Amino acid sequence: MNAPAQAGVATVKLLINGKMVESKSTEWRPIVNPATQEVLAQVPFATKAEVDAAMAAAAEAFKTWKNTPIGARIRIMLRLQALIRNNMERVVAVLTAEQGKTLADAQGDVFRGLEVVEHACSIGTLQQGEFSENVAAMVDTYTLRQPIGVCAGITPFNFPAMIPLWMFPMAIVFGNTFVLKPSEQDPLSTMLLVELVLEAGIPPGVLNVVHGGKEVVDAICTHPDIKAISFVGSTAVGTHVYNLGSQHGKRVQSMMSTKNHAVVLPDAHKEQTLNALVGAGFGAAGQRCMATSVSVFVGESRDWLPELVEKAKTPKVNAGTVPGTDVGPVFSKAAKERILGLIEAGVQDGAKLLLDGRGVKVSGYKSGNFIGPTVFAGVKTNMRVYTQEIFSPVLCVLELDTLDEAITLVNANPIGNGVGVFTQSGAAARKFQSEIDVGQVGINIPIPVPVPYFSFTGSRGPKLGDLGPYGKQVV
Ligand code: NAD
Repeated sequence: MNAPAQAGVATVKLLINGKMVESKSTEWRPIVNPATQEVLAQVPFATKAEVDAAMAAAAEAFKTWKNTPIGARIRIMLRLQALIRNNMERVVAVLTAEQGKTLADAQGDVFRGLEVVEHACSIGTLQQGEFSENVAAMVDTYTLRQPIGVCAGITPFNFPAMIPLWMFPMAIVFGNTFVLKPSEQDPLSTMLLVELVLEAGIPPGVLNVVHGGKEVVDAICTHPDIKAISFVGSTAVGTHVYNLGSQHGKRVQSMMSTKNHAVVLPDAHKEQTLNALVGAGFGAAGQRCMATSVSVFVGESRDWLPELVEKAKTPKVNAGTVPGTDVGPVFSKAAKERILGLIEAGVQDGAKLLLDGRGVKVSGYKSGNFIGPTVFAGVKTNMRVYTQEIFSPVLCVLELDTLDEAITLVNANPIGNGVGVFTQSGAAARKFQSEIDVGQVGINIPIPVPVPYFSFTGSRGPKLGDLGPYGKQVV
């Protein structure tokens, strides 16, 4: 897929020491609109010298940035939040073009990142240390919260605005410097945000951006100047990053693949619950790390299955730019092929395909990577549609008799990222929240994503490493 640079196709720049730089790489990759297959630009796989130059710039900038007054760092973040607000439409349009999600979802993507920038403006109090007087006779003790040096962020394709913004604003405002490696599949909206960071007045070298894949990531994990790494993406890559970075003495946090359950009890509000399942299962084409990909119907709630299927037919599948679209295309041709393979695997494994989105037609966008809402019932825990992350508008339904069985099932799943319970019983909700072993728990809320002043977390599979206490994905 990678090839030499194509003449006449716009190029994505690197950011090194405050300058947008054209890469000298011989390896480039096209960025493709998932609805139209139009090539929007091409992104370089940075050379070793370019990665080293970014590291050197970050290491040099750290010497002065760490001593820059907190107020000066905060004022850059204040300017950045205003710039993001003022440029929202521009970033959203690019994000939808390169990622495929609807304009509303793209706006949410940028907005959730903007909230982290707002949170970064509170660093004055967040950075305070601790002081104890007279811990021994006439001896006082204090702790300082100090920046640790050059930090790195490695981000996935599904939230090209929010996830980079989870990382670098908090790290930078704290006095660290940063090397960002955005997804090589959709870096355009990330780069628009990076331009805004420059416009906000960040000094050269404080934020640097390199593009690429495994080679660049491995260079980050092994580089002596990197002190901490924040990764978001798949389990296979995140585990690799965690292991390699840790072996090289870095502080690493990896947030990885997901499989989120919604447990539906028979006393739940039927209409609200089914609407929530449809929104959380098929919104953003199921490509959210907090999407609900599994519904567990307990007891008589299984009778609601036909209504769920009827509701699942209602979201409008179309290009993300078309007004009223609920479900845009999945991200790439390769992703679509993988999803189609898993739907077929579900059929072969004996799950009941109650709604099949494979044949969906979208007029005007014949070459888009569309898959319509798909519902499997009768899913068992050994089926591939259950054991693998599908990351698509495919909802798997399991049926169980009791809440206890549902809790046991969710807790046995190797991935405890997010979960929801739908019930009108306070006692059942209380039992669920205390016995469930999953990072984010929603009660009558399908996508329980924390706000930036709470850490994102996970149980068992989706998380390796410690999370910083001062906000989501802080390094
Ligand atoms: P990915 O793992 O393929 O890519 C993530 C990053 O790793 C990218 O920057 C990519 O360039 C790099 N990378 C890819 N292959 C590599 C390799 N072999 N060696 C080193 N680096 C490599 O993930 P993706 O497909 O872009 O994103 C989707 C995944 O992210 C899903 O599994 C989703 O669940 C997960 N995700 C998790 C969270 C969370 O908070 N838990 C949030 C968003 C997405």
